[in-house]
Amino acid sequence: MSTYPAKVPVVIVGAGPTGLTAANLLAAYGVEAIVLDREPGPMNLPRAIVIDDEGARTMQVFGLDRTYIANTTPAIGSKYFADDGTCFAETGAGVQSYGFPKRQYIYQPEFEAALRDRLEEQAPGSLRFSSNVVDVETSSDGAVVTVEAADGKRHRIATQWVLACDGGRSPIRERLGIALSGNTYRQDWIVIDMSDDPDRSLFSKFFCSSIRPAVSVPAPNGGRRYEFMVLPGEDREKVLTPDFLAELLKPFRRYDERYVLRKTVYTFHARIAERFRHERILLMGDAAHLTPPFAGQGMNAGLRDAHNVAWKIAAAVGGADAAILDTYDAERRAPPGT
Ligand SMILES: Cc1cc2nc3c(=O)[nH]c(=O)nc-3n(C[C@H](O)[C@H](O)[C@H](O)COP(=O)(O)OP(=O)(O)OC[C@H]3O[C@@H](n4cnc5c(N)ncnc54)[C@H](O)[C@@H]3O)c2cc1C
Repeated sequence: MSTYPAKVPVVIVGAGPTGLTAANLLAAYGVEAIVLDREPGPMNLPRAIVIDDEGARTMQVFGLDRTYIANTTPAIGSKYFADDGTCFAETGAGVQSYGFPKRQYIYQPEFEAALRDRLEEQAPGSLRFSSNVVDVETSSDGAVVTVEAADGKRHRIATQWVLACDGGRSPIRERLGIALSGNTYRQDWIVIDMSDDPDRSLFSKFFCSSIRPAVSVPAPNGGRRYEFMVLPGEDREKVLTPDFLAELLKPFRRYDERYVLRKTVYTFHARIAERFRHERILLMGDAAHLTPPFAGQGMNAGLRDAHNVAWKIAAAVGGADAAILDTYDAERRAPPGT
């Protein structure tokens, strides 16, 4: 039988990179929190493959820079190719402004595992899977979270703050009726992650083809991510069939299902929640904003949210005015006109 505390200063909904980072930061600051995720266990799918310098600096707060991050591979730059195969532009690794390389390659399931392990060291037992948050009642001075455990029993947890790190389809954001404004692009892309790739170059490669633009990005452990634009009229299911993918991958490698880590058709969203705070609930990570994956900022933006919010929550739990959390929205949203 699952047990939950009747009262805890902070409830974090969602054990993706945003929720786990926020939990680790709070643990480092000495704030008690519980992390609830509705899935029975971790989602072992490759998604983000880059952590940036600000993300790495965030990891430094709770020591992950010396373990997981220290063993990642720094990116060295990008090459851009024309239709005839010539490289017409090349960028470098970028400046090192925060004490870490601009971009380092990660495998999101391994990164999340490192975050979970560190959380277990810092705050044992604070992460609960099979814990579906079905309701949050909030007022100006607190909240009550209702969680449904694997056995179907419901539990109520009183808290000071709820960090809604519950992903792009955020049930909390939807229940609050907070609109996600912006665009969803008409242009879909095939994203296919392959293991054991023959191309071990550490450059990201952009094939600026007039027929079908494509991207090839190094991934950890000798893998590579390939992305191909879906052309008008092509069927989303057919483009993921082995024959179709074998043809697309022909210039790069032999297609073999055994080496496919993930294949999907990805729709690009550039959307942002109209507000990030509602009383004692803060929307963070994909729940607050969605970006197309090209500059690798989806996950990294969530890490920045966690870094921005965690010290303020620690201050508020310690007695600071709750208005300090209003600065989260102001600081994380681009000023009007930019
Ligand atoms: C194919 C693909 C490629 C990508 N590539 C990149 C990339 O190269 N670089 C990059 O930076 N980003 C990339 N992203 C985006 C990145 O993966 C996300 O931005 C990141 O995972 C968001 O983290 P999060 O913690 O905010 O949300 P999520 O990782 O979505 O986690 C949300 C969690 O909330 C839980 N949850 C939801 N509802 C409830 C509930 N009611 N109760 C309890 N738990 C709940 C879910 O189970 C989930 O575990 C990619 C995404 C995809 C799909």
